[in-house]
Amino acid sequence: MEKVYKSGFVSIVGRPNVGKSTLVNALVEDKVAIMSDKPQTTRNLIKAIYNDEESQIVFLDTPGMQSPRNKLGSYMQKASLSSMGGTDIIMFVVDESDYIGRKDKDIIEKIKMSNKPKFLVINKIDKIASDKLLEIIKMYGDLEIFDEIIPVSALKDKNHDRIIEVLKQYLPEGHPYYSQDMTTDQPTKVMIAEIIREKVLHYTDEEIPHGVMVEIDSLEEKKNNLINIQATIYVERENHKKIIIGKDGRKIKGIGVAARKELEDRFEARINIELWVKTKENWRDNESNIKNFGFNSREI
Ligand code: GDP
Ligand code: MG
Repeated sequence: MEKVYKSGFVSIVGRPNVGKSTLVNALVEDKVAIMSDKPQTTRNLIKAIYNDEESQIVFLDTPGMQSPRNKLGSYMQKASLSSMGGTDIIMFVVDESDYIGRKDKDIIEKIKMSNKPKFLVINKIDKIASDKLLEIIKMYGDLEIFDEIIPVSALKDKNHDRIIEVLKQYLPEGHPYYSQDMTTDQPTKVMIAEIIREKVLHYTDEEIPHGVMVEIDSLEEKKNNLINIQATIYVERENHKKIIIGKDGRKIKGIGVAARKELEDRFEARINIELWVKTKENWRDNESNIKNFGFNSREI
């Protein structure tokens, strides 16, 4: 008997930092969404596309859902909520904590209303013993909301295939929505800007990361497999600029080298990166600025 082709959209929701982006990257076996231990790393709705012979699953990696503190925050929340509307399955990701906190309760309240299949993914199980995991599964099972509860470790490659298998059981029959060799719909420039932003996140602490935005000013493919990239890192305050540049420019240099290495692997080319740092005060609360940076609330 011939197998039917399944396709559909899965929106991934959950508190910041539970590992949504790490999981999505693992599922599609490509780095589509940048990851860090800083909350609010993911800002836009990112599509990560899984393909095999019998299915295409489009994961929507959403920014975390939390009370917005500025216009960018409102945009992020709107993107998360609207992503649940147009999808076939809702996947709620939590971490290994043994209680359901207020933020998780809020999200549960929101998804409860939906009549779509709801999966609970308990991530980071590499950090806990199996008896504790059983307690967590029971705690969520008792809510009687979830159609499936799947424990995984996004980082340690545990149970990824199981997620795909179970998702396929719930997905409708259909055709592929995207070309089957794609793993994301993000334009190359956005991808590059995100990788640079990820390196900035890794090199900075505290309040700086949240106010960082990267814009690609030019991207040129030269002969001899060489790509020239010029990018500007925007920060919200003048003193943040100094921190990112670092003593004798050491920090910005480190950021550039880390980004270059990753991009060279990704594009299998030699890469030149020139980075500038500029201040744009409070850009996250300025509608036209956040629009310029590509966050357009009309599009979500
Ligand atoms: P998001 O905000 O939900 O998208 O979370 P990220 O994917 O950016 O991950 C947040 C942090 O959790 C990163 O430091 C990850 O390395 C870490 N992390 C993600 N998955 C796992 C996992 O399965 N086990 C452990 N120990 N850490 C994880
Ligand atoms: Mg993320």
